Amino acid sequence: MVRRAGPLLEPWPGGWSGFERARSIGPAAALAEVEASGLRGRGGAYFPTAVKWRAALRHGAPVALVMNAEEGEPGVFKDRALLCLRPERVVEGLLVAMEVLRPAVTVAFINGSADPAAAAFERALADSPGAGRVLVYRGAGGYVLGEETALLNAIEGRRAVPRPRPPLPVDAGLFGMPTVVNNVETLAAVSVIFRRGAAGFRSEGTDAAPGTRILSVSGRVSRPGVYEVPLGTPLLATVDQAGAPPRERAALLCGGPSGGFLPAGEASVPLLPGRYHATGAMLGAGGIVVLEAPGDIRRAALTMAAFNAEQSCGKCTPCREGAPLLFEKLAAGETAGIEELTEVMEAASLCGLGQMATGPVRSALAFWPEVFA
Ligand code: SF4
Repeated sequence: MVRRAGPLLEPWPGGWSGFERARSIGPAAALAEVEASGLRGRGGAYFPTAVKWRAALRHGAPVALVMNAEEGEPGVFKDRALLCLRPERVVEGLLVAMEVLRPAVTVAFINGSADPAAAAFERALADSPGAGRVLVYRGAGGYVLGEETALLNAIEGRRAVPRPRPPLPVDAGLFGMPTVVNNVETLAAVSVIFRRGAAGFRSEGTDAAPGTRILSVSGRVSRPGVYEVPLGTPLLATVDQAGAPPRERAALLCGGPSGGFLPAGEASVPLLPGRYHATGAMLGAGGIVVLEAPGDIRRAALTMAAFNAEQSCGKCTPCREGAPLLFEKLAAGETAGIEELTEVMEAASLCGLGQMATGPVRSALAFWPEVFA
């Protein structure tokens, strides 16, 4: 349910004027417009979008473009909401990206269980100038698909495990082509840029993090749903709007299984990329699960630890062996040795799933050690 809308979620005005503008100014000027907007990717890493596009184009070879609508993170549902509610916005952003990158192949990778989102996207695509130019691929699910190279392996029909880096996808990605992978919300923001202009896009958010972003707010709130807010907005303002418990009893899980827990009293931070706390809480893909502390914390931390252990793809030892061990130790209240285990996982795991699986456990133990005694 949309609780607050901004340029991404507001009613679609119709037509394809954003795409037509990109086409009329040409690929180089359109890329300069994306650069001027300061847009950063909305999948969780916040890498500058124009830098990624330029990196793929610099090879002078045919590129591949992939829209990532896998969204396999518990507590995050904003891409599905965008695709269901404003599919034209996403399609228009994808068309602009196609205009700039002139890809040899464009793939829309959509979570296999997100049928309404896929149907809405395909309907909007069929009614757009991009009809017949985008391959829709339905994924089999899995949190590790948030890692771009695992996603590319899945599209190629291989086992969905991350590839070693380098090479980066922008150098050698899908079937060896320089590849741009963009999140659904990132592409929707591109549409906003070409409707409002780079300056219009920058009129919300901060200098370093312009624009709005969509938060998925769930858990112990009276008004769960998607909230579109300018970056830089105080985190607690949105949580309060959603109807959270009183501050002294509320806790937030920010960033899901790769993020961390935070007592609401410690959450006076602006919504910006990066960590809110050294133990793990971060903006990530914009998922905020509100909990009651300390009552909910043990179960929630164990659920996150179990999820990471289950989702580990098994390719590297620190995560394959470490994530289940982390869960077992936490469940048994055996906290001795957890610190060393998390250090090894963070330093030696091949991808972000293993490196950041420690956040929920470390943060829960840091703030509420008594619930694991
Ligand atoms: S960190 Fe985990 S998910 Fe990532 S490659 Fe290693 S085993 Fe697979």
